[in-house]
Amino acid sequence: MKIKLITAIAFLAYVASPLAIADEPVWDANKVVLKAQKLRDGVYAMVATGADELSPKGVPLATTSGIIVGNRASLVVDTMLNKRLANMVLNQVRQLTKGAPTYALNTSYHGDHSYGNMYFPKSTVIIQHEETKKYISTKFEDDTKFMMGAFGKGRGIEEIKPRTGDVLIPTGGAMQLDLGGRVVEIRDFGFAQTGGDLWVWVPDAKVLFAGNPVVTEKPGIPWLLDGRVQETLDSLTKVREFLPADAIIVPGHGRPLPKAGLDWHIGYLTALRDETKAAIAKGATLEQAVTQVTLPSYQGYAIYGWVHNQVNVPAAYKEFKK
Ligand SMILES: [Zn+2]
Repeated sequence: MKIKLITAIAFLAYVASPLAIADEPVWDANKVVLKAQKLRDGVYAMVATGADELSPKGVPLATTSGIIVGNRASLVVDTMLNKRLANMVLNQVRQLTKGAPTYALNTSYHGDHSYGNMYFPKSTVIIQHEETKKYISTKFEDDTKFMMGAFGKGRGIEEIKPRTGDVLIPTGGAMQLDLGGRVVEIRDFGFAQTGGDLWVWVPDAKVLFAGNPVVTEKPGIPWLLDGRVQETLDSLTKVREFLPADAIIVPGHGRPLPKAGLDWHIGYLTALRDETKAAIAKGATLEQAVTQVTLPSYQGYAIYGWVHNQVNVPAAYKEFKK
């Protein structure tokens, strides 16, 4: 029964838009409830309720946001999709600090990580990658259309006005933020999904906020929406080398995972690359590659049919066909 249901979900997701099942999004921004999960003193992940049960089953969940608190300042990682969800994060910051966040960072331009910027107080300094600002400044209208297709109308996306970064990190750049008794590092490990991918590392707590390049735990797989399989693999490998063994990774969606959770994503990308190359070497067309490169040991994500067949294999085929 469970297998049948997952197949049905995957099939519907395959034929419909990426996140919509029968015109209902997989997660509904009007219904999701975020709860603060304390990882270390002053370091929290805002995780959708139900994640402990649903995430290991491969059900896509809402964006996970982060809150890091120092003696003098605080930082929010990702501002969520709409007003309702942004306010859940802001209310949590108020409870923890009696004030508004000093800084808010977007791990990418993706709307579920950045649309909430406009609901943050003017005093909050927004930190973005240069590429993220460039994208939002030039492609915002198309982006909101795509996001309404994926997350549905009436979820507050209609109201969003772009708010771009006050502080920008260039490609390959890094920055340290002193929050008071705690220094936070902002890093660009290279292209990891959008080219404007920022990672937030809290050294004293050994917590890494990853955003969508680590979309969720196993059996979730990377979404290579902008292609570049090899670079994505290289960047994730760099992240793995950088992290101490006992680090905690807060993914873009779902619940925090141990460092070892990265192995699944690196393994998937390696298999995707190698099997796609092998199919190309045997003369496969794109359609044949999609039917050949099925990676059975990496299945289980409810939207695997869409992410793997429609996004990732075509991206790998285009890249390695050259
Ligand atoms: Zn996301």
